[in-house]
Amino acid sequence: MNGDMNRRRNWTIYIIVVIGMMLIVNMFIMPKLLEPQIVTVDYGSFLKLVERKDVAIVEIEQQQINFILKRDLPEVLQRQLEAREQNGGVVEPAPEDEQRTSPTTEEVLNPLAGFQARRSTPIYQTSRVEDSELVNRLFVAGVVFQQVFPQQMNPLMSFFVTFLLPILLFIGLGQLLNRQLAKRMGGMGGGAGALQFGKANARVYVPDEANKKTFADVAGEEEAKEALSEIVDFLHDPKRYNDIGAKCPKGVLLVGPPGTGKTLLAKAVAGEAQVPFFSISGSEFVQMFVGMGASKVRDLFEQANAKAPCIVFIDEIDTIGKRRDSGGPVSNDEREQTLNQLLTEMDGFEDNKGVVILAATNRPDSLDPALLRPGRFDRRVPVELPDLAGREAILRVHAKNIKLAGDIDFASLARQTAGTSGAELANLVNEAAMHAVRHGRQAVTQRDLEESVDVVVAGTAKTSAVIDPEEKRIVSAHEIGHALVAAELSGHAPVQKITIVPRTSGALGFTMQAETADKYLYSREELLARVKTLLGGRAAEELVFGSITTGASNDIEKATQLVRDMIMRYGMSEKFGMMGMATRSNVYLGGDQQLTISAETEAAVDREVVRVLAECYEEAKEIIAANRGKLEELSAFLLERETISGDEFMAIYGRDQVAAAVTK
Ligand code: ADP
Ligand code: MG
Ligand code: ZN
Repeated sequence: MNGDMNRRRNWTIYIIVVIGMMLIVNMFIMPKLLEPQIVTVDYGSFLKLVERKDVAIVEIEQQQINFILKRDLPEVLQRQLEAREQNGGVVEPAPEDEQRTSPTTEEVLNPLAGFQARRSTPIYQTSRVEDSELVNRLFVAGVVFQQVFPQQMNPLMSFFVTFLLPILLFIGLGQLLNRQLAKRMGGMGGGAGALQFGKANARVYVPDEANKKTFADVAGEEEAKEALSEIVDFLHDPKRYNDIGAKCPKGVLLVGPPGTGKTLLAKAVAGEAQVPFFSISGSEFVQMFVGMGASKVRDLFEQANAKAPCIVFIDEIDTIGKRRDSGGPVSNDEREQTLNQLLTEMDGFEDNKGVVILAATNRPDSLDPALLRPGRFDRRVPVELPDLAGREAILRVHAKNIKLAGDIDFASLARQTAGTSGAELANLVNEAAMHAVRHGRQAVTQRDLEESVDVVVAGTAKTSAVIDPEEKRIVSAHEIGHALVAAELSGHAPVQKITIVPRTSGALGFTMQAETADKYLYSREELLARVKTLLGGRAAEELVFGSITTGASNDIEKATQLVRDMIMRYGMSEKFGMMGMATRSNVYLGGDQQLTISAETEAAVDREVVRVLAECYEEAKEIIAANRGKLEELSAFLLERETISGDEFMAIYGRDQVAAAVTK
């Protein structure tokens, strides 16, 4: 469809160019080519020539006189002129049959018309001088002469050429430019028909049957689905709600971290609702010119109102809905106008008309408060990272699209992927399928899936890397150190797997701890246990090898952040109590912190962090020292196997424990 339009435009340009060339050739080049040979002479010479009866034909124009000499005329004409002279200066009409061969009267009297084609006949020219005797002289000399007036164009024709044609040309050019510009600035709007400035190229989204999404395609996110299906229900059967006096919510805002399925949910709504569904991205309102975005908003709502009941989906609404006062030194007029228009339009339509605005964002705290008040986006639907059950469900939904070999333990995979988003899980399943193909398998096995968990968590395995054996020993002691401390500190999640296969992300190995259930609350002890676990790697290095390496940098970073959060955000330090020290914003995109404390307090916090970390490190070292034998045994085992599972770890770790219990 798009290609078709392109081809048509190319044709238009082509035709315009051809017409333009034809005009130029006709108006400027052809006359030059056809122009007869012109010889300019002075007036005196002209008079002399007349007197000598050398001149045959004269044409008197306003500014100049054109004439042809007798000797240049063709024989036939010369004879005719002679005959005319003998006849007392009167031209006899030629007899019927001679007319075809000899020049006509017309040709004699309209010399230029007659000779223009004959370029060999020179035409003489002289500028006209005020000469009252001229007519007399010419008459006496027996010259054929006449006065000609500048050719008058057909009035209709001249109106067309001087007035209409330029206007038409300009309109055509303008249209062409306009279309090109609109194409360039209107963003993606293919197939939206005539594109023009200020037109919202919202597409009425018609899901084709094959790619149609429904709520069944969205795993987990039960609350979000419930909230949205209520709205779909309202649009299908407004009477049931109106009878009670319930009003349809005007706006629904989907908020959550990237990749949690907000856009997917909107598509599912489009698939479920039997009403028109407009879809547009916030960035499509962002325009080069002030006022253009606003007019796009106006146009979008005009279309929506005409099609009510319907749903309008604005993805990434934060692009236009940013808080107005936080613009910095440069105010952004265009964005503000667009936002203002959006606010106005959302107030404008009546409650029960049935236009529901669905919007998605992962920066809800940057949105303008006016946008969030009841009556505009009065419903806020959180779409959070999936929990354990949600992750399992998402994995199952996506696994439906691939060939699976035998039984797959989805629950275990879900446990290993704490903190990942739906998009990452979808990617994980795809990676597993790719992995299976790479290894020549016909279907995806549990191993493929496990491998791609590692890929998602730590990057692909660097199989080509050759690691020094000494380094390998350090890495395995380090990883076992983490696992030992985690296992020793009761209440902490067991180890899922340990590996010393280097990763493309730079990690030389990792210890994966898996939660058995979702956890939302962490006690102070649990957090401290986590810090100790993180420091366990370095503690093992120090105890076994007597030296420390750079391998702990990531652990240190995480441990420090955790301790800092305990002090500054969770109120978990005796020294500062429950003093709030920072405000957080942008939680879905990593989170930005702004300190609300004085520089002295900050320094004191730093000292406290150092103290807590040192304490935890000491404790981690104690734990490792107490389990020195196990550490050696386990790291030798890991060194040999490169990857061991949590169960294998527990088998060796728990052996003595059981034995000790028996001897006691
Ligand atoms: P965002 O929240 O950033 O808009 P998307 O809706 O674009 O995220 O999700 C990206 C992809 O991740 C989807 O196309 C889908 O394949 C997958 N996905 C995310 N969440 C889910 C979910 N709850 N159920 C199934 N698939 C999901
Ligand atoms: Mg999205
Ligand atoms: Zn480590």
